[in-house]
Amino acid sequence: MEKTVYSYIKAMRDIIVENKDFLTQLDAEIGDADHGTNMARGFNAVVEKLSEEDLDLKNVLKKAGMGLISSVGGASGPLYGTMFLKAANVAVDNTMDPNVLCQMFKAALDGVKERGKATKGEKTIIDAMEPAYEAFVEVIDSGGSVQQALEKALEAAKEGVEYTKTIIATKGRASYLGERSIGHQDPGATSFTLLLESILKNYM
Ligand code: ADP
Ligand code: MG
Ligand code: MG
Repeated sequence: MEKTVYSYIKAMRDIIVENKDFLTQLDAEIGDADHGTNMARGFNAVVEKLSEEDLDLKNVLKKAGMGLISSVGGASGPLYGTMFLKAANVAVDNTMDPNVLCQMFKAALDGVKERGKATKGEKTIIDAMEPAYEAFVEVIDSGGSVQQALEKALEAAKEGVEYTKTIIATKGRASYLGERSIGHQDPGATSFTLLLESILKNYM
């Protein structure tokens, strides 16, 4: 049976709640120890706002984006909120056409970059998201399936998280630490990778 967009949002909430303490611990090392709490509060609020009857892709993504923005105080709220709102803008009905998925991913990535004024190499969400997007598109463009594209995207995102350990944060709270941020993985890049993992698991 075709999965509903609501089931993806719930899978995201579940993986975030499962990893709440881990994400907060990562943020304790280079930030203010609230990333897990922020993300869990946001996704719990979003799931509460939605129901099984919400089947329209565009509408669910829009509600999710607005829910994240209004329930998360930290930097991650507006950034993840923007991700969902931008994807909603280019979503087309409920068909998960691979090329439309590429366009949604691209719009979401561009939205986060613009909103956070960040590029790759600044120890943020982008360090997982951009390589994931590139891997996703590469697989789709060469005729691969959505599942294969998600698998490659997840691999690339995980590598992106490893990469964040090697660089200095120049955006967000972690940037206050300067060189001392080296050696720690970025909480936001990690939460993005978890969201991707939940999408892949729910897709399969
Ligand atoms: P806050 O830093 O306000 O406490 P969170 O702890 O919830 O918010 O989120 C921190 C994460 O947000 C960081 O690990 C980083 O990945 C992401 N982040 C912060 N600033 C930016 C930015 N300008 N662009 C992209 N991501 C960012
Ligand atoms: Mg924080
Ligand atoms: Mg905070």
